[in-house]
Amino acid sequence: MTGARVPILMYHAVAADPNDTTRALSVTPAAFAEQMAVLADRGRTPLTTADLAARWRSGRPLPARPVLITFDDGYEGVHRHALPALARHGFPATLFVTTGWIRGAHDTGGGLDTMLDWRQVRGLADHGVEIGGHSHSHPQLDQLDDARLRAELTRCRDIVAAELGSPPGSFAYPYGYSSRRVRTAVRGHGFAQALAVGNGLARRDQGPYALRRVTVRRTTGTEEFERLVDGRAIGRTFARDRALTRGYALVRRTRGLWRIV
Ligand SMILES: [Zn+2]
Repeated sequence: MTGARVPILMYHAVAADPNDTTRALSVTPAAFAEQMAVLADRGRTPLTTADLAARWRSGRPLPARPVLITFDDGYEGVHRHALPALARHGFPATLFVTTGWIRGAHDTGGGLDTMLDWRQVRGLADHGVEIGGHSHSHPQLDQLDDARLRAELTRCRDIVAAELGSPPGSFAYPYGYSSRRVRTAVRGHGFAQALAVGNGLARRDQGPYALRRVTVRRTTGTEEFERLVDGRAIGRTFARDRALTRGYALVRRTRGLWRIV
């Protein structure tokens, strides 16, 4: 169980015609539907981020062939296009919202493309999508002073709590950037786990505040997607990451990392 490697898929926009800013990290609605069918065909069992972390925290076993489906920022196509495909298979997922980009009461106008509104976010939550935090204005959190860092996390947490009825338990770092100070602040704001980028499969020994994800892009074809889910498309990155791993020190820290916050 401790050796389980879990693909955490990172999506952004799901759109037929995204703008130039969001295009590279978007997928078409058809590609997304095909990718969900691939997961179903291969007997994958999607989990929410909170569910995976709770199992790793408590030592409860994972289902066979687990996978996480995650979306960052809060693009409108997640409701329009991704939700029907998820519902077809009964797949749970996680959406990490940049609260200042979601259309409605808290909108700062910074959204990169057509964004969800809060009614749609609640609709996703009603259909098994965990709503996590992704900051308020999408800055590089490790570049902020302490006051601005706290403000980003507090506003994000409090807006999600107000709009959804309960505070978010999971967080995703904008651009994947974090530092020890950022991770401590995220934990201090009540988030029990957080996702980075890293382009590798997630493992328990990464700890709850640095779980890695793999990026699905507009250029990701079906065969590459299958390799990505199996952890075979990212061998070069893996080798580099392994070389950087601090060996036994990391292993020793693992038990303590998952103590309840
Ligand atoms: Zn983002």
